[in-house]
Amino acid sequence: MVSTQQAHTALVSEQDFVAVQTIRSHRSAHDGTTRRYLFTGLLRCGPCGRRLESHWINQRPGYRCRHGHTSTQQPTNHRRKILYLREDHIIARLTDHPRLPSGIQTPHDLVALLHKRKITIVCDQEQCTPTTERSAQANLRGS
Ligand SMILES: [Zn+2]
Repeated sequence: MVSTQQAHTALVSEQDFVAVQTIRSHRSAHDGTTRRYLFTGLLRCGPCGRRLESHWINQRPGYRCRHGHTSTQQPTNHRRKILYLREDHIIARLTDHPRLPSGIQTPHDLVALLHKRKITIVCDQEQCTPTTERSAQANLRGS
């Protein structure tokens, strides 16, 4: 009887332990040093027009586009290289960009401006170009 109670107690403790571990790992994913993507939803792939996916790589935030391909598809179907962009490179490309107002001090200010003005950044391997959805729609209507 006593040994059964001890086993039961041990089981509960283990569950509690696992629960605490889960909470800890969950919390650590939300503190300031972990995965945050500034440009989620703001980046578009130049070659194919899809939105870039957030993609954590080498302890840094980044973005990628696989142009609709998945890793399970045949290797014959890879005319376009997967686009990978580091977030800090995107920030560097947009700093003092002629299509953006001058005086943007921080990446946070930059992202706030993009949201406010509904600007999408069209990216390829060489450059990042701020584009408004309005002008993109106008182009569609015109063609
Ligand atoms: Zn693409």
